[in-house]
Amino acid sequence: MKILVLNEAKQSGGYAVEKRCAVSASTVKRLSKKGIQVVVEAGAGELSGVDDALFVREGATIAQDLAAELASADVLACVNRPTPEQIQQLKAGAMVIGHIDPFFQQDLVEQLAKQQLTTLSVEMIPRSSRAQKMDALSSQASLAGYVMMLQAANHLPSIAPMMMTPSGTIKPAKVFIIGAGVAGLQAIATAKRMGANVLAYDTRPVVAEQVESLGGKFLKIDLGDTGQTKDGYAKELTDEQKAKQQDAQRDAIADSDIVITTAQLFGRKPPVLIRKDTLALMKPGSVVVDMAALSGGNVEGSVAGEIATVEGVTVIGTGNWSQQVAKDATDMYANNLFNLIDEFFDDEAGQFKLDLEDDILAQSVITHGGAIINSMLNNAYAGA
Ligand code: NAD
Repeated sequence: MKILVLNEAKQSGGYAVEKRCAVSASTVKRLSKKGIQVVVEAGAGELSGVDDALFVREGATIAQDLAAELASADVLACVNRPTPEQIQQLKAGAMVIGHIDPFFQQDLVEQLAKQQLTTLSVEMIPRSSRAQKMDALSSQASLAGYVMMLQAANHLPSIAPMMMTPSGTIKPAKVFIIGAGVAGLQAIATAKRMGANVLAYDTRPVVAEQVESLGGKFLKIDLGDTGQTKDGYAKELTDEQKAKQQDAQRDAIADSDIVITTAQLFGRKPPVLIRKDTLALMKPGSVVVDMAALSGGNVEGSVAGEIATVEGVTVIGTGNWSQQVAKDATDMYANNLFNLIDEFFDDEAGQFKLDLEDDILAQSVITHGGAIINSMLNNAYAGA
């Protein structure tokens, strides 16, 4: 089996320059040990701290003729997703693995299906105990939580911890985190380590205990029935609940030095959590980080990919959070992919065993045999 790894820094694919890579030196070694041939496009690991020579030492070869490698690869391993031109060059039956962003990439998914490719979208991997080691959403979101808090602190004109000095006492910064899933909990932990006071809110009440165990306070808002899906994701709120949430959060936002929003709704646009009139209540120079800025935004006025000033508040919408720590993000993502391949690799046949009855593959393989085979996606594309 041959796995091809592209140099994604060379193609934006809708993202800023990608610094991560789908393999690390360690996973190249482990894949090679299994008898898997790993071919890497030149420079693929450079921005995550691995040069071509190290990949070669661990068992990879560097692609000399990329077109020929695309045409013969059994698996194309990506951080993001291949371009339509690259997809065209793949052989029928090959497998594509990556962050396909399938709910928002219908044309690309249709092309993948039409070209008889088997596509595994890492976002669709279930959040089950067995799949944890392959869960790229979680590994990257953990790092994102850390990065967002650091970015916020860097832009704040004051410090995070309390400081008592002969020149006076500085009070700790007040940080409010909205959305306490994987990223939000890491942002809370990072803010606490920096000495800030932390308040958090999530529509899933089960999260309150986790926030408190990290030393944060949980803001209680009675929205009635909010609940969560069977996969643990938040449900979309009614318009009435949305308005109630925005009202109830207003004082906490006005009182905060830093607000970090991490609210996502799986397969849908993220909810708007903060309107401009609420930003206007914050102290000038306060910082808001909108984790969802690239996919629609939790904060009115945030600009995808940029740092904007809105109503005197610094609103950070740069996105691509985990790749700010590209080495660790690559190591974690590469481990996720290795664990996925390892789980389904048939050592005797030397091939990936595509068992579509398996619950992990049943959910994450979205195209196969010329069709889109994921019912959630087919429903979303049909507007259902
Ligand atoms: P996510 O990225 O989908 O959303 C981030 C957070 O935003 C969630 O906690 C969500 O409840 C919250 N949110 C949504 N709308 C909101 C609103 N209007 N206001 C405030 N908060 C709002 O979530 P995630 O971090 O990917 O986690 C999703 C679920 O999966 C969680 O229950 C998590 O514990 C679970 N999970 C399980 C596993 C596992 O068991 N292996 C692994 C990872 C995550």
